[in-house]
Amino acid sequence: MSDLNTMRHAIRRPNLKDYSREALRAIFKERGWAAYRADQVATWLYKNDVEDVDGMTNVPAEIRSAIAAEFDTRSLEVVETQKSVDGTQKLLLGAFDGARIEAVLIPEERRNTLCVSTQVGCPLTCSFCATGALGFTRNLTTGEIVDQVLQAMRVMEPETTLTNLVFMGMGEPLLNLPAVSEAIRILTDQKAFALAPRRVTVSTSGVLPQIAPLLEVAPIHLAVSLHATTDEVRDVLVPLNKKFPIAELLETLRAEPRINRRRPVFFEYTLMEGVNDSVEDARRLPGLLSGIPCKLNVIPMNPHPDAPYRAPSRETINRFTAALHDGGMRVTLRRDRGRDIDAACGQLANRRPGPVQKTTNESSSAV
Ligand code: SAH
Ligand code: SF4
Repeated sequence: MSDLNTMRHAIRRPNLKDYSREALRAIFKERGWAAYRADQVATWLYKNDVEDVDGMTNVPAEIRSAIAAEFDTRSLEVVETQKSVDGTQKLLLGAFDGARIEAVLIPEERRNTLCVSTQVGCPLTCSFCATGALGFTRNLTTGEIVDQVLQAMRVMEPETTLTNLVFMGMGEPLLNLPAVSEAIRILTDQKAFALAPRRVTVSTSGVLPQIAPLLEVAPIHLAVSLHATTDEVRDVLVPLNKKFPIAELLETLRAEPRINRRRPVFFEYTLMEGVNDSVEDARRLPGLLSGIPCKLNVIPMNPHPDAPYRAPSRETINRFTAALHDGGMRVTLRRDRGRDIDAACGQLANRRPGPVQKTTNESSSAV
């Protein structure tokens, strides 16, 4: 198996989905092909969902065969899809090297959100996160990030469209910024997926030097995983806090000109019983976040076997959010989606080991 993987790795060719249209135009020009051929290829790939280069019929045959000889077009296979009782769908996807990642599609009344992964595992070891407990294998390529979107679109109900995209799956997007940036360019490109940038949100646990470069890519939204009001607690929950503590994190956000009322930061605050759920915490937050246009998203901890934390009681959650409201904060309480299939925030950890081979379409058993 490992020999086979090494071999596959060695013969792996560049993938057309690794390049934004601009980059593809440059590659095509180098080969003496008109740049608009790159636009045609992008339209086939992303608007028409045609991966077979032979099917790109308005591209001349000699260019098609040259492309087919040099490039791959596909990077992920669907290994399994699971559907939650609430309609959430989790896709388990397999890469060329056997790596497994997950993408989660969340249908709501007026929007359909896809949550994508950016790394296989994550190196940041947050103590409450199932992905963190996996350790880190590798960064995903741009093609692998983009392919999650294409694969999800294939399992969506007919007549529905993807409206929102969140980089909140496995991994830390800002530790894979080049691939994430190029994926954002493709996903927001009018001639490709044409997602509105303001409907794209990238979540980070606080890799400060990469925040400005990310926001330069497109006018997307930034989400920041805060989870605590003191360094003492955040050091335990998000070990990256030892490198980039709360004051530095908030100072960076305060100084960032691309964050404003039209584009506020979404702070995420995962509530854990007895850890960060006190009324004192709630009272500290408005002062801490003052001067930063923001909304606060409270997420009750989604439990899993690799973490010693639980969600607080309904009462404690209500007390916490009421204190935030009193402090004048804009707060939303995130509903659990897909908990029964381990598709909720922080539960993504590929709990099904085994070789990449079959595609099933089973419904998950309800809880
Ligand atoms: N690495 C990035 C994005 C992926 S995690 C980040 O940390 O922001 C997406 C969100 O899910 C983060 O806010 C993360 O803190 C949260 N999360 C992780 N584990 C969780 C859990 N068990 N319950 C609830 N939220 C969790
Ligand atoms: Fe990585 Fe985010 Fe999980 Fe922390 S919460 S381990 S940064 S995926």
